Amino acid sequence: MDELLNRTRAAVWHPCTQMKQLEAAPPLAIARGEGAWLIDTDGRRYLDAISSWWVNLFGHCNPRINTAIIDQLGKIEHVMLAGATHEPVVELSERLAKLTGLGHAFYGSDGASATEIALKMSAHYWRNSGQPEKNGFVSLQNAYHGETVGALAVTDIPLFKTTYAPLLRHSVQVPTPDARLAEPGESAEAYALRCAAALEAYLAEHAATTAAFIVEPLVQGAAGMAMYHPAYLTRAREVCDHYQVHLIADEIAVGFGRTGTLFASEQAGIKPDFICLSKGITGGYLPLSAVLTTDAVYAAFYGDATARGFLHSHSYTGNPLACRAALAVLDIFEHDNVIAANRVRAAEFTHLLSEVAAHPRGHHFRHLGMIWAFDVADARPGFATRFHRAALAQGVFLRPVGHTVYAMPPYVTSADEIRGLADAVLTCLDNPEI
Ligand SMILES: *Cc1c(COP(=O)(O)O)cnc(C)c1O
Repeated sequence: MDELLNRTRAAVWHPCTQMKQLEAAPPLAIARGEGAWLIDTDGRRYLDAISSWWVNLFGHCNPRINTAIIDQLGKIEHVMLAGATHEPVVELSERLAKLTGLGHAFYGSDGASATEIALKMSAHYWRNSGQPEKNGFVSLQNAYHGETVGALAVTDIPLFKTTYAPLLRHSVQVPTPDARLAEPGESAEAYALRCAAALEAYLAEHAATTAAFIVEPLVQGAAGMAMYHPAYLTRAREVCDHYQVHLIADEIAVGFGRTGTLFASEQAGIKPDFICLSKGITGGYLPLSAVLTTDAVYAAFYGDATARGFLHSHSYTGNPLACRAALAVLDIFEHDNVIAANRVRAAEFTHLLSEVAAHPRGHHFRHLGMIWAFDVADARPGFATRFHRAALAQGVFLRPVGHTVYAMPPYVTSADEIRGLADAVLTCLDNPEI
């Protein structure tokens, strides 16, 4: 283990990490995974309570996803998608079209590349429609849409953004409907509608220069699992329609059942102009993202002029192995009736976490689908790191965001495993040093 840690420190630049901190807090050296568990090189087991950064749905080394990928490996591992096509990408596009009601799928590799694609496609749509001045973007306060330069421009997390401000194009942030910000006595719904009115006020003035409003439906993940009432999205859809501004649903984190429905937008009864998907799309196996859009957007690009087309590409666009993993994931959703099963599972897990919910240090305990979160009001600087280390010592992998502790377990997690998670969280909360 120590040898691997020395080598990783020397050769691997870890993401979202001040490398010097690895001296005091080395990363886990993971040798293998099994269901909801990560197993390190010394054989110690850790419950993957945040699904490996929100990507894993059906556990590590899932036999059904493994089988699909192995089968695909024997056929074709990759072929470029410009000038060629293949069964997995066609079938995946057809099935995603049925599930989202958006019939045209464009592929990227990571979530951030899906954001880039949606932003470029939206602005290009308006250009092709004779309104090139409609190229601005609006997002929510505390939004997170990825960290490449275009995606970071619509992200609103200062820790990630401030350093790169000189590289970024201006975008506008409107008030977040985060239910924690409601006035005393104000319902989450009333607050959501008040925020939607602020979006409307902005668009009333600036629609002529605005291409799209991009939003994380129902849960702002990186903001600390900020949850809000679906009325916000319902109203945002009406407002965007009225002012002719695209609505981009960034379902990269909340898609594929995380919020209790296959896609979070469903809970607001809306159809976005673009849906960005990634993370859970391959069950956490392989990098893949997709942007799905409407016939109207697609039609605006269709024509004789090459430059009217969407001339965007990534080398691994529509990778067959990743598409097969995604198809295996959709099969599991169908055959195991995952959405209905998760409803039962989530109710049971919420019950098992009731002592955590009632803990005097916890505030704003909240839950949606397969996400649970609360804030620790008396958290001192360094809380997230101390909590992370203390939970690891008890065999649970958790990574609080600031003073927010959250769990986002794989859908194969058992009640016993959640009981263990609850015990570990309570032990951490009961330790005044953390
Ligand atoms: C993770 C995430 C992204 C970026 O995805 P990457 O694969 O990390 O680039 C974008 N939007 C949301 C809402 C996310 O949670």
